Amino acid sequence: MTFNEFNFHKDIEKGVKIAGFREPSPIQAMSIPIIDNGEDMVGQAHTGTGKTAAFGLPILNKIANGEVDRALILAPTRELANQISDELYHLGRFAGIRSLAIYGGVGYGRQIALIHKGVQIIVATPGRLKDLYRKGKIDIFNPEIVVLDEADKMLDMGFLDDIQEIIDYIPQNRQTLLFSATMPDAIKDLAQMILYDPQYISVVSEEEEETNNIINQKYYVINESQRDEAIEHLLENENFDKALIFCRMKREVDRLSEYLNALGFKVVGLHGDIEQYEREQIVKSFRRSEVKIMIATDIVARGIDIKNITHVFNYHIPFDPQSYVHRIGRTGRAGKSGMAITLVSTEEFNELKRIQKEVGANMEFSVMENGNGALSDSGYRDLSDRIREVEIDENVENIIKHLSKVDSTEIFKKALSIILKEERSQNGASIGYDYSSVKDMIDNLDNEKKATRNSNRRKKRA
Ligand code: AMP
Repeated sequence: MTFNEFNFHKDIEKGVKIAGFREPSPIQAMSIPIIDNGEDMVGQAHTGTGKTAAFGLPILNKIANGEVDRALILAPTRELANQISDELYHLGRFAGIRSLAIYGGVGYGRQIALIHKGVQIIVATPGRLKDLYRKGKIDIFNPEIVVLDEADKMLDMGFLDDIQEIIDYIPQNRQTLLFSATMPDAIKDLAQMILYDPQYISVVSEEEEETNNIINQKYYVINESQRDEAIEHLLENENFDKALIFCRMKREVDRLSEYLNALGFKVVGLHGDIEQYEREQIVKSFRRSEVKIMIATDIVARGIDIKNITHVFNYHIPFDPQSYVHRIGRTGRAGKSGMAITLVSTEEFNELKRIQKEVGANMEFSVMENGNGALSDSGYRDLSDRIREVEIDENVENIIKHLSKVDSTEIFKKALSIILKEERSQNGASIGYDYSSVKDMIDNLDNEKKATRNSNRRKKRA
């Protein structure tokens, strides 16, 4: 099948050609005729399947043909809103179609001015758009087509009320499209509420659902003070192409970025306090693999689709089980397998068990092997620095006299071995806990639970 079969307006055809799209992807082949026909539609598709163009092209085509004047697209994050707006600009620019991304965290003035200047497509995050509706600043923009993109993510992020409020502002004779990677009941309910007799299509095969789940999950139990050392060790020993490290807090992202950069790892940090423009540059450098390690908070990491993340590291366990699922879902995408590694302190062990139970996560306990008791890279660097700086003790000459028949290189190596041995005995050969200690922790937890259950039963009986 070719794009010619859709009979797009010549300016849209040109946009498709310049974008280098040769043939429609499956989601495009299925949804373009439905949307073209004016029907409502629910599409189940992951990011990366070409879903933006699947709804974008027929919308742009209708605008180019003068059938429709305006369309609204709702997306969960500003990163995604920008991404969609960019793609629509590229595909629709020869038809002179203007699109605008609208999101929170920036001033209202410029956005309102641009809306009034006249745009045909608005791509917005729900929170900011709702505010604009409430302020009556967007009344002139009356969309005839509404798209909810990544609807499951929008609900996960708590946007349901905002979406409902926005939909109430829009006339009912609209065409509504909903895209979502997963179809939980909440999404089906939403579709029922705001779509009219929709067509359902899906490009998520059972097989793909399964391969998407090939994420190996490990956890290490460490002491709170060992987090940095542990992440350093993992970055040195895990064979990753691209890694995303999750922290709980913005300042943790900043601190860890500084720490790892100082050790010579090239990392970027991403969180909500970073200016929008800079955030886009950061994401771009990670997407293009110019930087292979990104440290982020949960919120900003949602919605960015970056391919080929081989490893997700949880520097801290997330606050809630759903975030765990979102975090590890950043790897193992598009049929590739991924690795998700969680660092958990002894205090957090309970939380880990709760996540395992609630989301059925299949996490395996691992022991951090420090080679043969080898030091970390920074340990070696520290030691080399110390050797370089140390002043020679006057008694050394006496020792050398006693070793007169031994080769000097050998003396040097042996002396270093003595230092290394002491270093290990002081710092411990490995980071974190071994299998038997963790097994004890699990047994203790189980016993505690049993004891509480028994005492509750006794209280009830009494
Ligand atoms: P999406 O799933 O919309 O995020 O699209 C993923 C990527 O595929 C984007 O970079 C699109 O520009 C690109 N793309 C979309 N449709 C096609 C197509 N028919 N042929 C080649 N690339 C495409």
